[in-house]
Amino acid sequence: IMIISTGGHVLVMFIIFVPEKIINHKTESVMKFTKRLTDAFNEQIKAEMWSANLYSSMAIYFQSMGLAGCAHWMKKQAEEELEHANKLIEFGVTRGGEMKISPIDAVPGTWAEPKAVFEHVYKHECHVSELIDNLMDVAIAENDKATQEFLRWFVNEQVEEEENAQAILDKFNVFGVHGLYCVDHDLAKR
Ligand code: MG
Repeated sequence: IMIISTGGHVLVMFIIFVPEKIINHKTESVMKFTKRLTDAFNEQIKAEMWSANLYSSMAIYFQSMGLAGCAHWMKKQAEEELEHANKLIEFGVTRGGEMKISPIDAVPGTWAEPKAVFEHVYKHECHVSELIDNLMDVAIAENDKATQEFLRWFVNEQVEEEENAQAILDKFNVFGVHGLYCVDHDLAKR
């Protein structure tokens, strides 16, 4: 405590010394991403962006066939994948990870028939579910509770993604030769 007297006024100053240990503790409370978790997140960001490109490619395929409903569904799907990538980037940056955008491999551009595209969607989403599970395993191995909590949203999202793709395939099977028309009409509503 400093007491300074200046022409009738008394100025009292409090000087507080904060031990360095406490300051350090505070900055470390937002735990930094480990190298392993950073790498795993960057891989998943790449996978989500690849998925976005895959669905954009499928949208082109359907658009060129005049199947506007299917193309619309694919464009929405592509947007969602980019949102997934951005969610991962935001979280990684917040946690102090060195996030980066990697080169994205080429995606397929042709399929045997419309139904084969949705079979591909289903297979791909099952694969993404596996990737998310593996990412969760890394968060568990690194004992990072906040990341485990964050990834739970993705785990649940994948249940929905698989279900959506399966539901479209079911329509192809149920409606037989008219399946494609019904699916295209339905998917326009997304
Ligand atoms: Mg995704």
